[in-house]
Amino acid sequence: MSILISGASVAGLAAAQRFSARGVEVTVVERAPQLRRSGAPIDVRGAALQVAADMGILDVLAAHETGAAQRSAFTHIVDENGEKVGALPTELPQDSPDDLEIFRSDLIDILHGAVGSEATFIYEDSIQEVTDTGDAVAVGFASGRRGRYEVLVGADGIHSGTRRLVFGPEERFRRHLGVYYAILSLPAELGADGEAFLFSMPGRSVLIADYAARTMGGFLFRSPEIAYDYHDVEQQRQLVFDEYSSARGWKVAELLDALKRSEDFYLDSASQVHMDRWSSGRVVLLGDSAFAPSFFSGQGTSLAMIGADVLATAWATCDGNIAQAFGRYEQAMRPQVDRAQGGVPQARDRLLPANREAIEARNRQWPPIL
Ligand SMILES: Cc1cc2nc3c(=O)[nH]c(=O)nc-3n(C[C@H](O)[C@H](O)[C@H](O)COP(=O)(O)OP(=O)(O)OC[C@H]3O[C@@H](n4cnc5c(N)ncnc54)[C@H](O)[C@@H]3O)c2cc1C
Repeated sequence: MSILISGASVAGLAAAQRFSARGVEVTVVERAPQLRRSGAPIDVRGAALQVAADMGILDVLAAHETGAAQRSAFTHIVDENGEKVGALPTELPQDSPDDLEIFRSDLIDILHGAVGSEATFIYEDSIQEVTDTGDAVAVGFASGRRGRYEVLVGADGIHSGTRRLVFGPEERFRRHLGVYYAILSLPAELGADGEAFLFSMPGRSVLIADYAARTMGGFLFRSPEIAYDYHDVEQQRQLVFDEYSSARGWKVAELLDALKRSEDFYLDSASQVHMDRWSSGRVVLLGDSAFAPSFFSGQGTSLAMIGADVLATAWATCDGNIAQAFGRYEQAMRPQVDRAQGGVPQARDRLLPANREAIEARNRQWPPIL
């Protein structure tokens, strides 16, 4: 029997690598037709660096650093005319010089390349039915395919289908932090002279950041939960247009124009996932599906990689006692997750002040570097 992993992103690929490296037969099912490679650069930090080393990918990750370290250690805050009015430190208190910043696309490719050819990948399919029979998990897929697996790992993100099927509806576990973020690659003419710039309006910010090989843009806005189809990119694009329809100043118009044409646009709610337990019988959740700290924490990717390693190690040493393995995984990960999930509101308020007074207070606290 093999292990089934739902989701082929950071958590799913890292788990596939860590389980296959221990000789386990792995099947990965991904809802999208191929690996999803868009998104902003992400940090691999702390214990995740050791996990990368154990996977044999640390050097290649280091060779793919984004080049952000070459720009100044500040994100310049500008006003509607592009004048510098503040500067936020790019480094977080928990940052270390060893941390690596990698484009999400590179990380996904490198993790996928590390998985090994023995693993089976199924795309454009998803789990629709899960039955724990005690000695196995019986799974029915949307395609009609069926399978029996020793363990099911739900690594399918903050809107996890595995979590919904096994643990209950999303609204019980996902906490929307009152913010949506959208990320896209920008054409070279919107380049930021090797720097990063942020322009804030009440409850809305846009940013442009240069990296060695490309320029990325972002839209951040405060909003209560919006009901939309997580799989309908055009609907999500329209959501950003609606939100910024009255926004003016700096390069907002150019950013909206780039959004129209963008092929790698990604939008999601800044959310955290909080659960009392991450496993039930032979089903266990990993990464954002279990413990999303939100993008404000800068730690979701590292936690997903560390969790994959801890889970595979616990499983490999449990002598068939799966409940004990899942218990050990949870015990090791909880304190790190709790730390990452704390402190997020401050990061949110810095990037995205709620009103004009808050914008001015932030700019006074972080004066410009001219
Ligand atoms: C396209 C994309 C872009 C992202 N961009 C950013 C970003 O710019 N900044 C940031 O901080 N974080 C971003 N994230 C989230 C970031 O990858 C995660 O926070 C972190 O790396 C933990 O990863 P994860 O594997 O747990 O979840 P995710 O990276 O969210 O991956 C979940 C995976 O599961 C798949 N999936 C979902 N539902 C199902 C299902 N029912 N069946 C099978 N597969 C399913 C998804 O297609 C996806 O590949 C992005 C995620 C994705 C998918």
